[in-house]
Amino acid sequence: MKDGFRFGTGETILVIGLGRSGLACIEVLRELGVTVFATDDQPRERIRDAVSAAEALGARFFEAAGVDAVVSRLGSAVLSPGVPPTSPVARRLYDANVPVLGEIELAYRLCKAPIVAVTGTKGKSTTTALIGHLLRGCGLTVRVGGNIGNPLIKEVRGASADSWIVAEVSSFQLETIRAFKPRVAVLLNISPDHLDRYHSMDEYAEAKYRIGANQALTDFFVGNLDDPMVSMLHWRRGDTRLQARQLWFSLRGDDEATMYVRNGVLTYAPVAGDPRPIAIMPAGEIPLLGEHNRENAMAALLAALAIGCRPEALRAAMATFVPMSHRLEVVADVDGVRYVDDSKATNPAAVVAALHAYDRPIVLIAGGRSKGSNFEALGAEIRHRVKALIVIGESAAALRASAGEVEAVEAFSMEEAVQHARRLARDGDVVLLSPGCASFDMFSSADDRGERFAAAVAALREPAGA
Ligand code: ADP
Repeated sequence: MKDGFRFGTGETILVIGLGRSGLACIEVLRELGVTVFATDDQPRERIRDAVSAAEALGARFFEAAGVDAVVSRLGSAVLSPGVPPTSPVARRLYDANVPVLGEIELAYRLCKAPIVAVTGTKGKSTTTALIGHLLRGCGLTVRVGGNIGNPLIKEVRGASADSWIVAEVSSFQLETIRAFKPRVAVLLNISPDHLDRYHSMDEYAEAKYRIGANQALTDFFVGNLDDPMVSMLHWRRGDTRLQARQLWFSLRGDDEATMYVRNGVLTYAPVAGDPRPIAIMPAGEIPLLGEHNRENAMAALLAALAIGCRPEALRAAMATFVPMSHRLEVVADVDGVRYVDDSKATNPAAVVAALHAYDRPIVLIAGGRSKGSNFEALGAEIRHRVKALIVIGESAAALRASAGEVEAVEAFSMEEAVQHARRLARDGDVVLLSPGCASFDMFSSADDRGERFAAAVAALREPAGA
């Protein structure tokens, strides 16, 4: 690359952020012979373990205030996914003309294998995992990484040119790409989220559109035709931002879609509008609940078809996909009531998708730390579909206000929320934890929130006083 980033002996690179990705970057850069400095906005004593791990890998740690002293020695810097490009350290580096790139960009530059990259407001992890599963089912060698939990940089190091990387990428990560050019880019949907970080929906959407920005004619872009902000990129609508071949999916039998649902069957029209399309599988065979997951499945199938997988093999592989935890996960049936953990529903659109997935009465547990979201549209769905609402966390009052006449009660712990739910639910109902908010006001993560829910549900089964 001719833009100043070099990763080899004699180079000095600063890794910003000592989370899992940052440590993985240090490890890989050290393997390449780079001199690595590391920093974090937390002081040393708060992140002792991470600093020890960085030092054990051969990096030298500087607290943020100490970075100035070494700026002149830096060839470049690598930003961890969790650190915004607007962070004070990153700004100082920009001011000093030190090139800064994100972990995903570094991973791309070190990657020999072609990449399938997945982004969208919701459904990224599910679709990324599903693509990995489908490609494996078709006999390909695949590694899955990125936002899904394991740093991409680690996965790409072991990937040979004849294998595939499937990467989940967030809008934050896309902000820092430069040359990142996936063979297949998947854009699932764009709904309000992270508006505490972006000034407007347009700015947020622009970050997502970057996933296809460097693609060439020989690459593929898979997009959701039903999503107004995604389908703006459609070539027929005069948009010229995408060079890649466009493959669109739609829940409706749309003429411009390459894949759609017709008479309950996922149908593939290699050329949009093809009068003799190929039936891939009945939508009922997708082992995931809800229409939103039909969208995720179509996206995954199109990505796999684009790189040459065969329909029969895809159908067989789909049947063995195991849904991920905390996404419409059934944790128990107690006294005829189904308890469902959808803790990963961290924005209002994901809750709407969850409410649409059931045709039985729903007792909803929602709330947490808002990300600048507006609950108006969710409120309308709650009024239409929810029998009783239990609100938790910082957004409790706003959610309750949005729910109008629906019976609502506030709980101050997950255990209390589940107790209320048990009282309010009847045989045949669903108790759905689908918060629509971030978890950090009451829990350490969305996983922690889901686990606390499952534990509280398990406790319902224990005899009183046990
Ligand atoms: P992400 O990685 O983008 O957060 P996940 O696959 O982890 O997405 O799913 C997170 C939450 O969003 C889950 O609650 C899930 O039910 C919901 N969800 C998944 N796919 C979609 C979609 N296409 N549209 C709306 N909500 C979705």
